[in-house]
Amino acid sequence: ATIAQFLADTVQRFAQQEAVVFREQGLRWSWAQFQAEVDALAAGLLALGLRVGDRVGIWSPNRAEWLVTQFATARAGLVLVNINPAYRVAELEYALNLSGCRAIITAEQLKSSKYLEMLQRLAPELATCAPGALKSNRLPSLQMVIRLGDERTPGMLNYADVLEQGRTNVDVAALDALGAGLSCHDAINIQFTSGTTGNPKGATLTHHNVVNNARFIAQAMNFSEADSLCIPVPLYHCFGMVLAVLACVSTGATMVFPGESFEPVATLQAVSEERCTALHGVPTMFIAELDHPRFAEFDLSRLRTGIMAGSPCPIETMKRVIAEMHLSEITIAYGMTETSPVSFQSSTTDPLERRVSTVGRIQPMLEAKVVNAEGQVVPVGDKGELLVRGYSVMQGYWGDEERTRETVQDGWMHTGDLATIDAEGYCNIVGRAKDMLIRGGENVYPREIEEFLFRHPKVQSVQVFGVPDAKYGEEICAWIVPKPGQTCTEDEIRDFCRDQIAHYKVPRYIRMVQDMPMTITGKVQKFVMREQMMAELK
Ligand code: ATP
Ligand code: MG
Repeated sequence: ATIAQFLADTVQRFAQQEAVVFREQGLRWSWAQFQAEVDALAAGLLALGLRVGDRVGIWSPNRAEWLVTQFATARAGLVLVNINPAYRVAELEYALNLSGCRAIITAEQLKSSKYLEMLQRLAPELATCAPGALKSNRLPSLQMVIRLGDERTPGMLNYADVLEQGRTNVDVAALDALGAGLSCHDAINIQFTSGTTGNPKGATLTHHNVVNNARFIAQAMNFSEADSLCIPVPLYHCFGMVLAVLACVSTGATMVFPGESFEPVATLQAVSEERCTALHGVPTMFIAELDHPRFAEFDLSRLRTGIMAGSPCPIETMKRVIAEMHLSEITIAYGMTETSPVSFQSSTTDPLERRVSTVGRIQPMLEAKVVNAEGQVVPVGDKGELLVRGYSVMQGYWGDEERTRETVQDGWMHTGDLATIDAEGYCNIVGRAKDMLIRGGENVYPREIEEFLFRHPKVQSVQVFGVPDAKYGEEICAWIVPKPGQTCTEDEIRDFCRDQIAHYKVPRYIRMVQDMPMTITGKVQKFVMREQMMAELK
């Protein structure tokens, strides 16, 4: 199915039920109201002259307009380009030009990030051009800037006006006819990866990729229209767009957005007041919620399921969310933007011990294998690179055939992650191949040391990575954020390691820090930490 058909099915079945709640904006829509918004914007975008296959960027935190744009672009056959809300001028220029966006829908600002000002700096021509008729030196493909909010800005269109224009002229039959001409194998979305290991890459995904992935995700959580999901993860990322939004659309579950960006208290409050049955998050979000001083104030008793994913999910954290947040049926998912995104997911029926300690089994209709450096399948249970093949693998990296060829071979997506798969098919993610370090000839897996140090009672979070070393090739470095109000010393950590882990795994450098460098999806950027340590050690 195309995304438009996928939404239409749900709207037909659950028209009057609550579909979407944006708490910060004070908006509540039923499925029928949501569909009306989507149709109005689709008609408005077509009225601007946008045509099937044109790329339309969205640069905004979690707002209702984001969600409407996701479905309106799909309805009109446009390709949505999700632009990271953390971008600055140079990255914005890169993303818009790489994808050849004709239009961008943009929020005014998020905290200190002034989106409109950054666009004006890139395209000073906006000051004098007619709205929607931009000709810019640095952004050659961009013609239209559509801004959110009440104000009107020279050279820019306003979202509310485009929507109103569409609403007064909307022709549902014409939209349906346009949709009938689209194929579910058409590109629908250029999704940028998180940028955890460097520059974000733009993965081109089809309707078929994401719609089917969402169906299986919802199935593994045993999701239905009776569920209501709290969504603190960013919409710009597949965690928000697919695991949250499309999984809700696939079953008629309600989507509850606590705010524009992640806040532990706003999230807990939303769960409590909206009586949510499900909650998604990356591990750092769950940890921030659990450790918040106000945690006990909120009623989380209706929570049942949700997904923890995006980066290694510590066993301790999984146990705590089950015991303290009532998430008895929470599942772990593993995936990447390039596979739309989920390939492994535990299900509510897996035994608890397996559910907290593995990423579950391969999704239906996908294949996986673990290979060594020569590309040969390793014996069951051995470590190697994880490869995934099937319906969910991206079309390719937009505009980068060479990188696509390096990454997808014979249909197999090379994930760059190290994994083991046991005899029953349960998968363990050992870490990123890039993060594995070799110290004095021994392979060291940072994840293993992180899991160990995380058990120290004063440790709130810990990251382990390698730095170059003249004698051993690489040395191990640990950054630790102590629990609030606690002080923790290097000696305490060293004592904790003594006689517990092999001497060659004990970090040579231990640093106490306030926080870790993070992507907007809440993932720790080890390459930034490594650069800082290398500068310090020089
Ligand atoms: P970039 O590719 O730009 O460096 P990224 O790989 O973090 O960033 P995403 O596509 O958002 O971008 O994330 C996919 C990666 O996240 C996976 O390759 C894996 O390393 C990690 N990951 C996702 N889920 C899990 C999980 N459950 N356990 C461990 N790691 C996970
Ligand atoms: Mg990646």
